[in-house]
Formats: sequence, structure tokens, C-alpha cells
Amino acid sequence: MRKLLVVLLTAAVLCGGCAGSPSASAGESACVFCMDTVMDLRFWGADAKAAVQQVSGLLYELDGKWSAVREDSLPALLEQSAPEAVLDSQDHALLTQVTTLSDRVGGAFNPQLYHVMALWGFYTGDYRIPTQSELDTALTRPRWDLGGALKGYAGDRAAALLRELSVSCAILNLGGNVQTFGTKADGTPWTVAIRNPADPNGQAGIVQVEGTASIVTSGSYQRYFTGADGVRYHHILDPHTGRPALSDLASVTVICKSGLTADVLSTALFVMGLDSAIAFWRESDDFEAVFILDSGEIYATQGVCLSECDFTVIRYEK
Ligand code: AMP
Ligand code: MG
Repeated sequence: MRKLLVVLLTAAVLCGGCAGSPSASAGESACVFCMDTVMDLRFWGADAKAAVQQVSGLLYELDGKWSAVREDSLPALLEQSAPEAVLDSQDHALLTQVTTLSDRVGGAFNPQLYHVMALWGFYTGDYRIPTQSELDTALTRPRWDLGGALKGYAGDRAAALLRELSVSCAILNLGGNVQTFGTKADGTPWTVAIRNPADPNGQAGIVQVEGTASIVTSGSYQRYFTGADGVRYHHILDPHTGRPALSDLASVTVICKSGLTADVLSTALFVMGLDSAIAFWRESDDFEAVFILDSGEIYATQGVCLSECDFTVIRYEK
């Protein structure tokens, strides 16, 4: 039963259908490959079929527009053209929101690291360890890479679309980002499992959320390569050095009403490390978080409803 109600963050296996219906009706589901990940979409309500079509279409559209690597996408075009020439008002609003969030986290999030990510080979899988001089040069060449924000934004846009339809509830697993919508027919909370970074096939605990929310995890286990020097190089970069962030965290899960905010914050809090991330949470009032350390300890802010956790959870109060 527990398995039926759990969505494992970043679980490609969801397409096999392990997440259950929160109501008596089967609802509608779809599995799409988008933004370089497998996404699992489930909808309930009279317009569930239309929701599959429209949300899938939205995800493909955002992917095409904002792909970091396509030469016909906005990041590539923005490298050569003035923003007014290529952005519509919605695109412009997205970049403004991302910039405001980047300012809020004080340098831990830089959405223009394309050339740095490319040097490491993260786009092609042709991995290599760049020299610091190569990284320093790449850091002076900004090009948008919204990989740390786009899935969260997509969750917000999908929720907005669902509000226009007759959809009673929905759960979207956008590859590490879970977006819930509405309340399940039986009134129980949504349950989302957090992966155990030390054993990504297993879970570290289950987060319960009510209504429409985003649950977003960033972790060094999600994408990495091991160099000839035996060191593990992961994909969350310190914007000051261009190197994988030397964080004491293995993963950060952010729970927030805004998907975009959750996505930016999960990446940024990972870069900050536990102490700075907690200080940042204490100054904020719009999110809760779960931190899993490399050492295996779990810390959670006071508002997180966490269950089925086999580890001792240390709580932070405001
Ligand atoms: P996430 O999985 O949401 O933490 O995002 C990681 C992705 O965001 C990476 O694959 C890069 O595309 C991009 N990225 C890496 N480091 C940063 C950073 N410090 N700030 C913003 N984006 C980043
Ligand atoms: Mg992110």
C-alpha cells in the first residue's frame, strides 16, 4: 500500500507505474522524455485526458525553448542577439525571476554557467577535468543554462494550466522535481519519497505535503563522473570556481509553494553547505528543507512532515 502512494524522486522506473491513484478512478497518466529526463505525469478529473496532452505539450515547448545545448534555443540565440529581439514577455519574466532568486542566494546560483558545464563534458558525456585557467575563462563568458531552474518553472506553469481545466488533482514527477496539484479524493496528504544518496535505489524517508506544492531535490549523486584521479566530479558547480561545489551535503530537498523557487533554492543550498543553508532558511519564510549529509545524517527544518525514516533526524527550529 505504501508503495502505491509513493513517488520516488528522480525515479525513471515510475513509467512502469508504481505510483497509485489517489481516488477511486484510474485517472490518466503519461510518461514523457523531456529536459533530458523521464517524466511521469498523473491526472484525475473530467479533463484528465486533455491535461495529459496540454501538460506534455507545455513540457516539450519549454524544453525546446530553453534547452541549454540546442543551437536554435533561446540560450544560444541570446548569446548573439539582444534580449528584446528574441524574448517574449513570458520569457523575459522567467529570466527576471531567475535573476531575482540568484540575487537572493548571494552568488550560490548562477544560471549562466553553460560554458563551464560544457568544459566538464556534462552535456555530451565526454567528461574531462578542465584546468583552472580554462574554467576562469569560461566563467567570463555567460550563457544561460537553466538546468537548475527549468523543471521547477515547468511545475509552476503546469499547475497554472491545470487550474484552467477540470482537474481535481495531479502529481507530476519531473525527474527529481515533484509537483503536486490539488487534494487527493480521500483527503490524505501527498507522499513523496526522498532518495537515499548513499543508495539511490532506496529511500531515506517520506515527505508529506498538502495541496499544490513542489518538492525538489538536488544531489551530487544525480549526475557525476569519476576522474582518472579517482575523484568524483558532480554537476552542481560552485559559481566562484567553476568546479563541483565542495559541499558537506549529499542532497537537499526543498518544499515550497513555488516550483521555480524550490528548484533554484535546492541547487543554491547545496552549494552553500549545511550551516549557511540553515542560516538562509532562518531568514526566509517561504520554504522548508531536508538536508542529507555525506556522513548520512539527516537534518530537517521544523515545518517538514517526514515519516518512515530509518535514520535519526535532527530538527532545526526558527
Ligand atoms: P539541479 O539538479 O536543479 O540542482 O541543477 C543542476 C543543474 O543546474 C546542472 O546540471 C547545471 O545545468 C546547472 N547548475 C550547476 N551548478 C549551478 C549553479 N551553481 N547555479 C545554477 N545552475 C547550476
Ligand atoms: Mg535546481
